[in-house]
Amino acid sequence: MPWGNSDPPVRMNPKGSMLEQKINELFGDEDPSSFGTGWWSGVLSAFFGLLALGSVVCLHFPQLLSSPDLRQHYPMHLMRGLIQSIIVVALILGVVSASLRRKKVLGLTGMLLALTATLLGGASIPINGSLHDGLSIGLDWFLLDLLLMTLIFSPIEVLWPAYPKQSVFRPEWLLDVGYFLATHLPIRITTFLILLPATQLTRVLGNAGLQAATASLPLWSQFLLAILVADLAEYWIHRALHGVPWLWRFHAIHHSSKSLDWIAGSRAHIVDDVLIRGLMLVPMMFAFSHEIIVAYLLFVTIHATWAHTNFGPSIPWLERYLIFPRFHHWHHTSQAEAIDKNFALHFPWIDKLFGTYYLPKAGWPESYGLSHEPIPAGFWGQTFYPFVRRKRR
Ligand SMILES: [Zn+2]
Ligand SMILES: [Zn+2]
Repeated sequence: MPWGNSDPPVRMNPKGSMLEQKINELFGDEDPSSFGTGWWSGVLSAFFGLLALGSVVCLHFPQLLSSPDLRQHYPMHLMRGLIQSIIVVALILGVVSASLRRKKVLGLTGMLLALTATLLGGASIPINGSLHDGLSIGLDWFLLDLLLMTLIFSPIEVLWPAYPKQSVFRPEWLLDVGYFLATHLPIRITTFLILLPATQLTRVLGNAGLQAATASLPLWSQFLLAILVADLAEYWIHRALHGVPWLWRFHAIHHSSKSLDWIAGSRAHIVDDVLIRGLMLVPMMFAFSHEIIVAYLLFVTIHATWAHTNFGPSIPWLERYLIFPRFHHWHHTSQAEAIDKNFALHFPWIDKLFGTYYLPKAGWPESYGLSHEPIPAGFWGQTFYPFVRRKRR
């Protein structure tokens, strides 16, 4: 069983951005960061404290800071229980960290954030008045997805990493959190844009017979078929993003990460993100029900994140049929042998079928990113990059 490579990937910017350095100076004292030193309890306290404060702010301004499509489905008593638990956990972890660690700043930050959330009303703030459809920011979606993905992927990355020397707070982690924020806050606009091609085309070319035929299948086979249709579409859209020079300029941002983990997967230009997800939906809309498409969208959120995780273990016979992180990591390498390979998102054999499969028996890439294409370092520079640069790797 290949358990990864002990060497970290090549880092072109080992210290990270100015802001990352400032945060490291403030929070990352010279004390060790292994278990039992108060480091992890401090980091988690600050993380849960931030989540708690963000959620309480959402409760204060639900009309502006929650997505109308999501908030109508929230079981509010459970959400309030969750927020209360997060506040309590942040406080307890803060106390643990402050008692274990010489420098108290991490634990105190977590406690201060949780305390501020409590003083602002905590989980019991009533939602006054009825909420109406309108302009909104998906802060609720950002906080929920951040919590969900951190709970699923961070423990396995810490326990079984492919690159043990790669820190959670590696260079550019803040940039990728920025991308995570940028892909979640405008959820109303991106959802509209993603649905636009599929809804317009099905209006003109809709085929009720095909939908009825797939609806007669058992639910599990509809779902599997939906994943297959989506991945075949994704394969060709993704291949076009690599092959067509003006499309590559958008997709190059996703490939600019110099080390991968679950949050690095969220680094994508908004045009790239909307194009892939929007066009992938087109063949799905012809054949599948709304419920199956929503179920697939939830699945792809988790599976696409999984493909980027810094997680070493794999099951060799299974990784030929289902994607494990190693397959997509080879897609991100800057090593010549794997450039323009491994386009599929769910099933590696699709690449085998079309001649773009690359997966050595064992081992992970030694370098990631774009070796011949300098990309601006910051979020806004990267956002404007496709419109001002003409060079292709
Ligand atoms: Zn790609
Ligand atoms: Zn990727």
